[in-house]
Amino acid sequence: MNFDKPSQIFYAGSWREVSNSASFAVNNPASGEVCARVADASLEDVKNAISAAADASESWRDLSHSRRAGFLLKAADTMEQRQQDFVDALVEEGGSWIGKAMFETAYSVEALRSAAAMVFHMNGEVLPSEYGKVSLAVRQPLGVISVISPWNFPLLLSIRGFAVAMAIGNTIVLKPSEETPLAGGLLLAEVFAAVGLPAGVFNVVSCSRDHVKQVGDEMIANPLVRGISFTGSTAVGRQIASKAGSLLKKACVELGGKDALIILDDADIGRAVNAATFGSFMHQGQICMSVERIIVLEAVAEEFTRRLVENVKSLGMGDPTSMSDVIGPLINEKQLKNVHDQVTDAVQNGAEILTGGNYEGLFYEPTVITGVRPDMKIFREETFGPVAPIITVADVDEAIAMANDSEYGLSAGIITRDENKGMEVARRLETGMAHINDSSVSDEVNVPFGGVKNSGMGRQNGRYSVDEFSELRWITLERGGRHYPPPFNE
Ligand code: NAD
Repeated sequence: MNFDKPSQIFYAGSWREVSNSASFAVNNPASGEVCARVADASLEDVKNAISAAADASESWRDLSHSRRAGFLLKAADTMEQRQQDFVDALVEEGGSWIGKAMFETAYSVEALRSAAAMVFHMNGEVLPSEYGKVSLAVRQPLGVISVISPWNFPLLLSIRGFAVAMAIGNTIVLKPSEETPLAGGLLLAEVFAAVGLPAGVFNVVSCSRDHVKQVGDEMIANPLVRGISFTGSTAVGRQIASKAGSLLKKACVELGGKDALIILDDADIGRAVNAATFGSFMHQGQICMSVERIIVLEAVAEEFTRRLVENVKSLGMGDPTSMSDVIGPLINEKQLKNVHDQVTDAVQNGAEILTGGNYEGLFYEPTVITGVRPDMKIFREETFGPVAPIITVADVDEAIAMANDSEYGLSAGIITRDENKGMEVARRLETGMAHINDSSVSDEVNVPFGGVKNSGMGRQNGRYSVDEFSELRWITLERGGRHYPPPFNE
């Protein structure tokens, strides 16, 4: 891969050597070979990056709106020109199928452009005042925001984590995942350096798993950090949110899921099959809002299952750079083991594999399982792999109860020809998002993205990110209408 700074991170506007010139290897999950070496930052390095972000805070906040937007727009243009580098990184370090890498890169450019527009959306309010004061609710940026992102959509989720926050006047310290440090951060640092962003506004710290706790803790606890934007697993997100909470810092945490696709008995089965196939198998099922439970009414279960299995058998698996091999590798051994453990547990408890269930290297066959019940691991735990578990139910009420029987609550899909019924089911689901006649996998730059229950706290994208990463203040201007009690007056 085209990256030549094996022991440098980016802060205060320059590439800087990390302590002891430490570095770590990044693996290509498809080939098993090392595809890059990047800097392994430790405590001193992240402290320096946070200080640089704090130093830049005031001047960035005070820069005109259009100039701030200008930097984001130029960065979007530069990313577009370097599209191939981002696609290569997503494929090589992240195991992305090339189609997914192209989509992610293009969508990330769009996300940067839409974030630029948010500079003009730090809206406040003029409030009525009992005393005739000018009474204002005013939004201000928080200051330094720590952004921690995952490996599955590393480019998009880093950008979603910081772009609006930065546009509205916050400065950023970004830590990408150790699995995807290039697409998740270091290449973005090259982009912002190239567009001449003022020093310290955007800083990237890469580190290995050995240093992640030390670096991560500092990114929350450092007194100069005022807000946290985290996307990743529920286990880590919970620790981060509780640390942030104890320090009374704002944290927006976007976490795991176990999303349901509900197929009602009046569903267009072709649409249901396509939504299930895309939802369960796009990026090998390694998406927070992947379809991880297909809940189908028994009246249509047989036809749906037969057609789904046929469709899944047609998915190519192999070299992620090939357009036809839509199923690539899982990210690492740990994920592979987790997926296979869940499939094995389901089979041992009476479920049946209709296709798939085997693996070679990190390539796990797209798998469909029937006879899944709530007492199986695959019903409850996030799988994050290419597995579609089918649960058959008698009616709509049972489908909703089954879908809600989860610690998670990110997204959901409902397939029905009756739009009113679809809306009613959506209303009764305990999720942050619900999509009628679509898969649970869906995102747009201006929508409130986020979950309930163990899927997270807070909402990302557009004006919802403005709310998360700004402070609402009350400012008044007294004009003589306010009287203090007599003893206080001269
Ligand atoms: P992860 O929680 O293992 O890692 C996420 C990030 O946290 C990485 O950058 C990692 O280095 C960092 N991290 C790990 N330990 C840390 C610590 N102690 N302190 C600070 N940072 C630490 O998650 P992952 O495996 O990278 O991503 C997969 C998970 O992310 C899945 O559960 C998935 O559902 C979730 N996810 C959620 C969303 C969403 O928007 N809700 C989007 C994508 C992924």
